[in-house]
Amino acid sequence: MTVPFVVVSDFDGTITAQDLVVALTCHVNPDNRTLVDRINRRDLDLRSGLTALFESLPSENRQDYEAFIQETLTFRPGFHRFQEVLEEARIPFYIVSNGLDFMLDAALGPQETQAAHRIVNHARFDGPSIAIDWRYPCEPPCPGGCGLCKHAVVAELRARYQAPIVFVGDGVTDFNGAKNADWVFARSHLQSHLDDAHIEYTPYESFDDVLNALFVAEREGFHD
Ligand SMILES: [Mg+2]
Ligand SMILES: [Zn+2]
Repeated sequence: MTVPFVVVSDFDGTITAQDLVVALTCHVNPDNRTLVDRINRRDLDLRSGLTALFESLPSENRQDYEAFIQETLTFRPGFHRFQEVLEEARIPFYIVSNGLDFMLDAALGPQETQAAHRIVNHARFDGPSIAIDWRYPCEPPCPGGCGLCKHAVVAELRARYQAPIVFVGDGVTDFNGAKNADWVFARSHLQSHLDDAHIEYTPYESFDDVLNALFVAEREGFHD
């Protein structure tokens, strides 16, 4: 299958207006804010940080977490149309998240009902608190510490589709993936990390911004 490009999007703070991992873990235990600040400063690697955040959530309250996600969830403007347009154009769309599968299921509905593919860590509720089965461990040349390695995901999708990767993100969890992508749309923390590293990106606020930029590029002949 030949496709002009593949879209990889972060979930928390990108597809959702608010980061649900932060919202949920800090709602259950406000002390987690300190951990979140350390992750954002890159003073704590993601894998250790996310492990600690979810360890503070007792497994028995799963239904409360799902209800909280559904109450808190707001989509970034333009997301639904963006998803529809990609589906109609048969552009592969991957939601790649360092969050956990039960959170995306609560927010988006079960994977089986959706066109967008999901690459996400698996939450285990069989112990006293939530444990994480990690997907996509870091491999060189990724510097490591990703949790779910978006750098590795981008490399695999580029090889699979033989097409440029468009990456949309907002946070520190996106940095290693963005570094490996062909075209990056960035906002918030990701923007400042990319500025510091002198890596080019296109700023966006809504998915309409992303869609418009992609349309213009396609009209002019999409190049990586
Ligand atoms: Mg994010
Ligand atoms: Zn990595």
